[in-house]
Amino acid sequence: TTPPATNFIRNLIDADLAAGARSEVVTRFPPEPNGYLHIGHAKAICLNFGLAAAYGGRCHLRMDDTNPEKESIEYAEAIQDVVRWLGFDWGTHLYFASDYYEQLYLWAEELIRRERAYVDSLDAEQMRAHRGTLTEPGRESPDRDRPAAESLDLFRRMRAGEFPDGAYTLRARIDMASPNMNLRDPVIYRIQRHHHYRTGDAWCIYPMYDYAHPLSDAIEGITHSICTLEFEDHRPLYDWFLEQLADLLPARPRQVEFARLNLSYTLMSKRRLLELVREGLVAGWDDPRMPTLVGLRRRGFTPAAIRAFCERIGVGKSDSWIDMSVLEDCLREDLNQGAPRALAVLNPLKVVLTDYPEEREEFFDAANHPQQPEEGSRQVPFCREFYIERDDFMEEPPKKFFRLAPGREVRLRFGYIIRCEEVVKDPVTGEVVELRCTHDPATLGANPADGRKVKGTIHWVSARHGVPAEVRLYDRLFAVPTPGAGREGRDWRADLNPHSLTTLRALIEPGLAQAAVGTHVQFERLGYFFVDPHDSTPGRPVFNRAATLRDSWAK
Ligand code: ATP
Ligand code: MG
Ligand code: MG
Repeated sequence: TTPPATNFIRNLIDADLAAGARSEVVTRFPPEPNGYLHIGHAKAICLNFGLAAAYGGRCHLRMDDTNPEKESIEYAEAIQDVVRWLGFDWGTHLYFASDYYEQLYLWAEELIRRERAYVDSLDAEQMRAHRGTLTEPGRESPDRDRPAAESLDLFRRMRAGEFPDGAYTLRARIDMASPNMNLRDPVIYRIQRHHHYRTGDAWCIYPMYDYAHPLSDAIEGITHSICTLEFEDHRPLYDWFLEQLADLLPARPRQVEFARLNLSYTLMSKRRLLELVREGLVAGWDDPRMPTLVGLRRRGFTPAAIRAFCERIGVGKSDSWIDMSVLEDCLREDLNQGAPRALAVLNPLKVVLTDYPEEREEFFDAANHPQQPEEGSRQVPFCREFYIERDDFMEEPPKKFFRLAPGREVRLRFGYIIRCEEVVKDPVTGEVVELRCTHDPATLGANPADGRKVKGTIHWVSARHGVPAEVRLYDRLFAVPTPGAGREGRDWRADLNPHSLTTLRALIEPGLAQAAVGTHVQFERLGYFFVDPHDSTPGRPVFNRAATLRDSWAK
């Protein structure tokens, strides 16, 4: 493996360390437990944990749980599970923003005493009307100069539950004329009666993200608080809170923004992903078509492939789109090394060898990995009747079709060269139902003695020994690169790919029937498959295609 490439964040950290502004590197990954993590989060996870590792520092996992109505313990646990699966370890550094509620509240009181915050009675609509626009300054609230003692009293009573939801807010007292809208006296606390999955009903006021985040970072001694570019113009606000409370805070973190990951042919907003799940458009958060990490895991993605992807796309300052094929390529590269080979037929067409004795059975020696002889071999049974892939036969083949056709020869993988002598069709539908072939017994592990060339090799599974298995082929969830974009009023649902899942009844070589859940295999010529951890039963594996062998979307 190559060492991680440098990037602008590493340069910035290097400069901080060289200047003596920092003596260590402490980062954090701060998901809100309001859904399952997706591949975009993986970029942030790899970045934050990667930096901590590179500088001998540490990375905290923090549940950014200040939004009671959307969060749950289920999500918080799933997040921890999948970060661990990706290969990262936060050690003892698991934190919850909700554990800081009391401290955050006390600091808010302090802001009031310092006349840097006030309790406002404007409702949401009035506040909007006062806010101004990009070209016009906002108007100050009539409550802006409320005496600190009065705000303090009201704030305490807000906490005590004396007022209905929305009756008051606590606002930072900054600048209603700032060209940066985020500085126009942002709300920092709201009254909201909602059961919180950790603090229960202890609180009826909750801090806003822009207030809670810098202070949580300071509490934990974070040195570099890395977030996505949308927060760039929140940075003055981030710094403002740290500045106002500087004498009380244990640390002075620094916010750094990077470009979020956008991936084609999928959606990455948790809200949309939740809609996909709720509306039954997918089978769940871990549907293998989902860009969630649990979905990718169930599809057969490996942590190594996802980490390699995050390394490959790099970290920059400008928003860009990454093509889904980049992610798929990373998986192929990993599985090409790691996955043993096997034979399976997805769309079976029966072949009968008319010159092969009925009762005879033999075993061919089959390499488990053609490039890795140390992986050994297995014995694959063969008999008079077997199945080949329907696509590997054509009645009227074009010139360059090197597979099976009437009167033509092809080699069976690990086996004989066979010739198609007769095509049997269904008398009603005309569909080809069976091929009657002969074999050349001298071609097992040998080229034809007469020097004739047989170019094609096809896979097969013995009819007597093969085992039926469910195989699921996945395609992209959306049929277009940027779902729902570009056309006014078009619903992203209209861009769903109707062919994103194909379920087949395949025939697998007998040894595969015992394939353990959670293992990978390459079906020769067909792709990389993963034994579904959910729907497989002993002796009856279900295979998910994780990736085709080549990028089937490349033209
Ligand atoms: P969503 O908009 O999907 O709900 P979010 O940013 O609200 O995502 P959080 O749980 O707050 O979700 O995200 C945790 C961390 O992951 C944040 O620091 C955020 O910057 C980062 N993150 C989220 N989406 C991406 C993305 N597409 N690319 C890179 N980082 C991301
Ligand atoms: Mg967020
Ligand atoms: Mg969010």
